[in-house]
Amino acid sequence: MNRPLVVVCIDGCQYEYITAAVAAGAAPFLGRLLAGAGTSIIADCVMPSFTNPNNLSIVTGVPPSVHGICGNYFFDPERGEEVMMNDPRYLRVGTILAAFSDAGAKVAVITAKDKLRKLLGHQMKGICFSSEKADQVTMAENGIENVLERVGMPVPSVYSAALSEFVFVAGVKLMEKERPDLMYLSTTDYVQHKTAPGTPAANDFYAMIDRHLARLDELGATIVVTADHGMNAKHGGDGEPNVIYLQDSLDAWLGKNKARVILPITDPYVVHHGALGSFALVYLPAAHAAVAERIAALPGIETVLTRTEAAVRFELPSDRIGDLVVVSQLDTVIGTSRDRHDLSGLDVPLRSHGGTSEQKVPLIINRGVSKQPAGRRWRNFDAFDLGLNLAPRAS
Ligand SMILES: [Zn+2]
Repeated sequence: MNRPLVVVCIDGCQYEYITAAVAAGAAPFLGRLLAGAGTSIIADCVMPSFTNPNNLSIVTGVPPSVHGICGNYFFDPERGEEVMMNDPRYLRVGTILAAFSDAGAKVAVITAKDKLRKLLGHQMKGICFSSEKADQVTMAENGIENVLERVGMPVPSVYSAALSEFVFVAGVKLMEKERPDLMYLSTTDYVQHKTAPGTPAANDFYAMIDRHLARLDELGATIVVTADHGMNAKHGGDGEPNVIYLQDSLDAWLGKNKARVILPITDPYVVHHGALGSFALVYLPAAHAAVAERIAALPGIETVLTRTEAAVRFELPSDRIGDLVVVSQLDTVIGTSRDRHDLSGLDVPLRSHGGTSEQKVPLIINRGVSKQPAGRRWRNFDAFDLGLNLAPRAS
C-alpha cells in the first residue's frame, strides 16, 4: 500500500439516503463521487441484514457461513441458552484487519457501539475503541489514550446522531496525526431507524458524514463507503407497526413454548426498534413441513426456508440457525410474543431491517476502478478488495 485505505460502514444506509442527500445539495463530496469522480455500485449485504453479521463479513471478506456470526443474538446449542453473539469465541476466521496488523501495518478501528469492538478488534494490534466508551480507553486495551480530549467532544448518548459523528471526528484526527495504513469506521443506525431518506434530519446526518469524507479524501486516503444493511418503514398508514407475533402463533398451533423463536436483531439497544426486524429463526420440537407451510401462509411472510435451504441460499452457518429461517416482507416485522416486546420507546413509526428488502447497500469508492466482469455480484464484503486490489495505486 502506498496510501491509506479507510473503509466506512454507515449503519443502516439504504442507498436512497445518499442519493436524496446529494439531490438536496447536502452531500457535495458524495455527489461528485456519484457523478463520476469515483465509482458507485449497488451491492448486496449478507443475510440476515443485521449489524453484526455484516460488519463481520466486511472485515473478514466472507459470508456468515465462513465467519460464523449470523446475528446479534442466537441460541447456543452447546450451552442450551440464548446469548449475545458479540464474543469473539463465535468467530471462526481471522479478520483482514488482524492480518494487516500482523504484517506490520498500522491499523485503527473506531465503532459507535461498544458491542462490536471486541469482534472487530479480535487479535488485532493497533487502535480500537468505541465512541460509546471513549471515556474508558486505555493504552493497554485500546492502543490509544485521551480520546475525549483529542476529539473535543463529550461521550455521546448511545441513542444519538452524535455517537456516529464522534466516529468520524476521531477518524479524521487519527488520519491527521497517526495516519494509519488501514482504518475501519463503523457508525450506528439510530438516525435511519428514526427518519426516512430525504428528511431534514437524514440530510443533516449525511451532510456531517460528507464533510468528514471530504476531509479524509483531502488527506490522501482511498475511501470505500458501504453499509451493513438498508432500512425500510415497517408500519401501516396508521403509524402502527406491522408485526407478526410468531411465538404466539406457534404456541397456538403446537402448545406453549414447544417451539422457540429467536430474533437475531436482539441486542442491548432495542429502544429504537423494539427488537423487531424482518428475520427470525425457529427451533421446532419435531418434523416441520406442515409448520413451515402454516408460517408461510401468514400475511406478510415472504419466505420460509429449512435449515439446509437457508444455509445454501443465504450463506449461513447451518449449526447456528434453527430448523426454519423466516423472512417477512418489506413493510412487516416478526416478533416473538406480543407481551415480550416493549414498544413504548417507539416515539416515531417503526423503521427496521433484517430481510431481503434491506439487502441493497451502497459500495462507493473515491477512485476509478478497473473494469470488472459484467454480472459480477458485488457484495458489501468486497469493500477491502475494492480498496486494496482494484483501486489504482498512487503514482
Ligand atoms: Zn446496523
